Amino acid sequence: MPGGVSSPVRAFGGVGGDPFIVARGEGARIWDVDDNEYLDFVLSWGPLILGHAAPAVLDALDETMRRGTSFGITTELEVELAELITQRLPHVEMIRFVSSGTEATMSALRLARAATGRDAFLKFDGCYHGHADSFLVRAGSGVATLGLPNSPGVPDAVASLTRVAPFNDVEAVRTIAREQPLAAIIVEPLVGNSGFIPPDPAFLPALRDIATETGALLIFDEVMTGFRIALGGARERFGVTADLTTLGKVIGGGLPLAAYGGRRDLMEMIAPQGSVYQAGTLSGNPLAMAAGLATLRALTPSLHARIEARTARLVAGLVASAAHHRVPFTAAHAGSMFGFFFQREPVRDFASAKGSDLAAFKRFFHSALEHGVYIAPSPYEAAFMSAAHGDVEVDLALEKLDAAMRVARA
Ligand SMILES: *Cc1c(COP(=O)(O)O)cnc(C)c1O
Repeated sequence: MPGGVSSPVRAFGGVGGDPFIVARGEGARIWDVDDNEYLDFVLSWGPLILGHAAPAVLDALDETMRRGTSFGITTELEVELAELITQRLPHVEMIRFVSSGTEATMSALRLARAATGRDAFLKFDGCYHGHADSFLVRAGSGVATLGLPNSPGVPDAVASLTRVAPFNDVEAVRTIAREQPLAAIIVEPLVGNSGFIPPDPAFLPALRDIATETGALLIFDEVMTGFRIALGGARERFGVTADLTTLGKVIGGGLPLAAYGGRRDLMEMIAPQGSVYQAGTLSGNPLAMAAGLATLRALTPSLHARIEARTARLVAGLVASAAHHRVPFTAAHAGSMFGFFFQREPVRDFASAKGSDLAAFKRFFHSALEHGVYIAPSPYEAAFMSAAHGDVEVDLALEKLDAAMRVARA
């Protein structure tokens, strides 16, 4: 396995040292093969909003798998999950299930190109939309951690159709959208892939206006933010409605599942209803559907509010700890997602994210790990909370991370 891993950021390339090998997880905790225990704030990079080995998910999987693991035929579980998601996200009028976020964004872009008859599209510097060729241009965390601006193997002819603007820069978007007809403007409505970067209040409404004015489709890539920043997604949190939305991570509850959906007139263009081709042998897999259903059914407004409150308390504690140790630090949170940078100024875009103190982050990361707290091994990743991170775990994490903060200062 190249680098010893199945996905690059797992290899600790950004922080040095060797990653541990995980053996098992339960609730907020994971254990490595040497039986060291860690409080986990990575949670499989976002999906596990109920925590590891959540009983509701395990029960649903157990019951489902005994009836067979895959059919390649529609199941009732698919219909139930489609209904549940489209009820919670009413702007997702129709939905197509796929197996990874990469497939979801790739397919949404194909649909946008088909619907508009345009090839070029706009993304934002530092936003990650999976590893399809078109999106591997200034793609945030994974490539940034390894110091790769773009990926070799992506033909220039393909990359030249990808226009890039800084996040939160409305004028840059306006200029590009007027210069060239765009099929889509795709954005993480709240960035989680170059660290955690919230949008300015005017940013998403401006994207909506520019898209509408210039005939581009607005795609919210909510693979990470979906069911994390609000139960109703970015539309609920920011009051802006996208034409197409991509989902993943939480909707699969830890199994390979993602989706794209949105306006009915657009989704009706997807085969077999329309002529835009997209398919998948394991799409709608019953185990993934069962895990997703169990997860989303458990995620009630009151549970979401509880996780959000604990996330706020954790972030406030981190900020206080940094102030106490005189470490330059800025942190933010939304729903059950949070992030921080080792710098004084709030971060607005990827360029300012890169101004943070990488050495301080590395010291913090390794000390946290030694104290039994696992955060993502990169300064350009968001962090996640789960229903299993109770007040006890928040207190414990704050105590351990305070010790790490002291080391970060050195
Ligand atoms: C994780 C992520 C993806 C890619 O999803 P995979 O399932 O890893 O292919 C796409 N977009 C965003 C915003 C993500 O966070």
